[in-house]
Amino acid sequence: MKCPTCGANVTLGTLMCPNCGVNIRTGETYDARVKRAKPKDLHLERFHQGVYIGVITVFALVMLGGFLYQRRVENVIRLRPDMYAGYVSWCDALDSLIAMGKTKEAVEKGQGLVSALSMEDRRIEIEVAPTTQERGMPGRISNAVRRAEKSLLRNLAKKAEHKLAQAS
Ligand SMILES: [Zn+2]
Repeated sequence: MKCPTCGANVTLGTLMCPNCGVNIRTGETYDARVKRAKPKDLHLERFHQGVYIGVITVFALVMLGGFLYQRRVENVIRLRPDMYAGYVSWCDALDSLIAMGKTKEAVEKGQGLVSALSMEDRRIEIEVAPTTQERGMPGRISNAVRRAEKSLLRNLAKKAEHKLAQAS
């Protein structure tokens, strides 16, 4: 058969003319088909790109925000090494007393450490808000700092109680 548009020889049953690209059944030209399809496809493509970029941006911002927040909290705690260093070396001293077999001294030191840590725990509950303010931290961070300080102290207290049980 012949193409109705350009007259080229076309195999029977062919949908599109290989010479001019016309749709033999509908008569729609290749250019018309491209024009009809393009705006829709482009729009969809841009929409997908937008969604993709949006999701990645939101994810990156959330990750960055979380990272910076964590860093800030850790820095606040590092500002107070005085508070933790004392308890950590107290814990170490307890270790060496246990290692040396000085049970009585170890138990005394262990009991002292456990009660000091529980007092510190209560003090943080009451005092952390004003001290965080003094350190120039916005109020919002004080809760995170308090949680972090408490969890640090509690880990230390757990360790101390374990050592105390070991000594006695
Ligand atoms: Zn043709």
